Amino acid sequence: MADGRPQPDCLFCKIVAGEIPATVVRETETTVAFKDINPQAPVHDLVVPRAHYRNAVELAANAPELAAALLVEAAAVAEAEGVADGGYRVVFNTDAHAGQTVFHVHAHVLGGDFLSTFGS
Ligand code: 5GP
Ligand code: ZN
Repeated sequence: MADGRPQPDCLFCKIVAGEIPATVVRETETTVAFKDINPQAPVHDLVVPRAHYRNAVELAANAPELAAALLVEAAAVAEAEGVADGGYRVVFNTDAHAGQTVFHVHAHVLGGDFLSTFGS
């Protein structure tokens, strides 16, 4: 069972710890939101729990209140970025076929324009 402890070689654990710089948008007691380094939309932020879980399913199974807090925070980030009214997308890539590259759960918050369809 995953316990949320920081992992030594995890990029997002290092961003949470301030060991690697990021453009932070919002912080709460349990989450950090920062700009994606390679934005795919006018607004593209990542929201991560401070605790380390591999993906959204592992987070929800082991820390459901934190999973809920992450979604609430994704909405707060959209509001802070000015995209809440126009609409936005929240994405959790999960494992290889979805293109997950960083295995510390993160919500992508994408908005600021009409977004392309996805699924292929
Ligand atoms: P995934 O493909 O795992 O769902 O998303 C990982 C995201 O992290 C990608 O959109 C990528 O651009 C972003 N990313 C990778 N390395 C860094 C970094 O060092 N800093 C920031 N801010 N974003 C990163
Ligand atoms: Zn981590």
